[in-house]
Amino acid sequence: MTLSVSRPAIRVKGRLAPSPTGGQHLGNARTYLLAWLSARSQQGEIQLRIEDIDKTRVRAEAISLILEDLKWLGLSWDEGPILQSSRYSRHQEALERLIQQGAVFPCTCTRKDILLASSAPHLEEAEPVYPGTCRNRSLQQAQQLGRENQRFSWRFRVQESPEFTDGFLGKVQIDLQQHGGDFIVWKQSGEPAYQLAVAVDDGELGITEVIRGDDLLSSTPRQLLIYRALGLPEPKFYHVPLVVDATGRRLAKRSNDLRLVTLRERGISAEQILGWLGYSCGWLEHPRPISLPELLTLFSWQSVPKTPFVMPDDFLSSV
Ligand code: GLU
Ligand code: ZN
Repeated sequence: MTLSVSRPAIRVKGRLAPSPTGGQHLGNARTYLLAWLSARSQQGEIQLRIEDIDKTRVRAEAISLILEDLKWLGLSWDEGPILQSSRYSRHQEALERLIQQGAVFPCTCTRKDILLASSAPHLEEAEPVYPGTCRNRSLQQAQQLGRENQRFSWRFRVQESPEFTDGFLGKVQIDLQQHGGDFIVWKQSGEPAYQLAVAVDDGELGITEVIRGDDLLSSTPRQLLIYRALGLPEPKFYHVPLVVDATGRRLAKRSNDLRLVTLRERGISAEQILGWLGYSCGWLEHPRPISLPELLTLFSWQSVPKTPFVMPDDFLSSV
């Protein structure tokens, strides 16, 4: 006789993680919608986390606008909004552990130093490969730098490039040595860098699936290094293509006319936006106004295109 052992099911928990750097646009909405539908289609929960740690880019009025945008679309959440900045002491503690393990090293290089030192910068990459200048600095040297009031960042010493299976893209293999190399986890300004803050938050706050734009694809192996160094549970990752304009450029928050707030002010309804997004994901043959509960019944990853979605020029008349 075989005994069936019932294991407690792990509750699905997704997250919406907007950065309050400006008005959210259609491309952001498409990613949030996918994250929301994926979690809700599995009876999962959703956390709203406002990623406000980059003080130079945060705009105060953007937070209330994000809440308004999400409510307008009906993208509800069960937890939060959690301000990422309020978790500073958790980020600090994680850094401390990485320091004790020798996983990170103090780096005094400026961006200019790195650009000058990288012999063959890949032109197509925004980020030059770190040349390893400070790699052998010790913890004692960090204390010395501190005493001399010299500013430095902490970089993660990259020794491997974890592979992972993306829920949407399949197997992903990215060589981190060619994508930035040793990466910053703590900035010279004394603030956590995105890679550390997001991995610590997703890992500690019980997130089981991370759905985000594929511009962050090469961040995932870096974050996996952090999860593993800190012994945090790893979520499943899904990277979705961005929405681009007719010239192939991604929609930026400065694409003012495609900001959700602007569309709302023009009298376009949430159902029209949802219909258009549903069409862009292959769930509707033509854009037509649709409610969120109805969209939930149509959700599947299969039909979502693997290539960037190009905004038609006549978008406003096609919704
Ligand atoms: N806060 C980031 C953004 O709005 C997203 C980070 C993430 O999903 O990991 O671009
Ligand atoms: Zn350095």
